Amino acid sequence: MTTQQEKVIPEKYIPDVGSHIETIDGKDYLITNDAMYTFYRRTKGEFSPFFLGMRDEKKLLGCKCTQCGLVRVPPFLTHCPDCNFAPTEQVEVEQVGVMNSTPPITYFATSLFQHMAPYGRGRVIFNGADTAMSVILYTTTGILVPGIIKKGTEVKLIFRDNRIGEMTDVFCVPSAELTKEQIEKKGLLESEINWESPIEPELPQANDADIAVYEKALEEMKSIISEMDTNERARKDIAGWKRDIQVKTRGGRFAVIIDDGDIKLEERDLSTPDFVMVSEDPRTLLDGLAYRGAITDSVINKKLWISKNMEFNTIFKLDRMARSVARSKKV
Ligand SMILES: [Zn+2]
Repeated sequence: MTTQQEKVIPEKYIPDVGSHIETIDGKDYLITNDAMYTFYRRTKGEFSPFFLGMRDEKKLLGCKCTQCGLVRVPPFLTHCPDCNFAPTEQVEVEQVGVMNSTPPITYFATSLFQHMAPYGRGRVIFNGADTAMSVILYTTTGILVPGIIKKGTEVKLIFRDNRIGEMTDVFCVPSAELTKEQIEKKGLLESEINWESPIEPELPQANDADIAVYEKALEEMKSIISEMDTNERARKDIAGWKRDIQVKTRGGRFAVIIDDGDIKLEERDLSTPDFVMVSEDPRTLLDGLAYRGAITDSVINKKLWISKNMEFNTIFKLDRMARSVARSKKV
């Protein structure tokens, strides 16, 4: 295995030395690449044991007031303000807790967190703690949509395989999605969870009318996708991207193959798709591809389901392609 040391700023964001010309309103302007940068080190200070506990021992630590016994997680105080600043002591708490509010879901994150989206962010009171800790939330059942994790949902703390001593070293999933052994295991790792068996929504039996709707939508999608395939802007949107997508709708199923700029619709079943898209009405996807409303919105509104949370990125790219084709037509 070759492990390359990861940089604070990934290589791909560092521009090459050079220059280029941009033409605006018929005039040429020379643009050269330059840099302005600052790096810094940040101490976790008295929080160090908490972060080290997560990083090295897969422990969740809190602080307990030596007078009133209140347990704060994370351990954000060394002295209790309620007890005339009596000292607190380090305690370990359980890795199962309850949501104390319904978490909002972030679908469109800043570039820093984009690789993690969509994710929920909410506060959990872990067993043994009296205060809530802010955590990132995921589901193993497919795309994270509203309703999966609510106030009162029991969740389990999961540790990332690669931990560096940040809050993002951990996240939570509903314990209902785990086995009894997994829930009881302290320091359960991300790689120990089954992410590969999402719960696919069932499609109702198709009647003749549904099949007719599907056939018509399929023809339109074929023509849109072949237009995307020849559109330079749209091709750029999926440069370097490679995905085999199985699409299932009430009237029928097909595959969308994305391969570094190429996009194709093929009427076949894939044995090992990268992810599955389920939409009862094929026109939901058709509308998105035709730039009549975003596919991302259909995912958020639960009209279109995808089997892998992180593939929201691919959906985002499909929306971009639809927009690129629409913009090319305007010019
Ligand atoms: Zn106290």
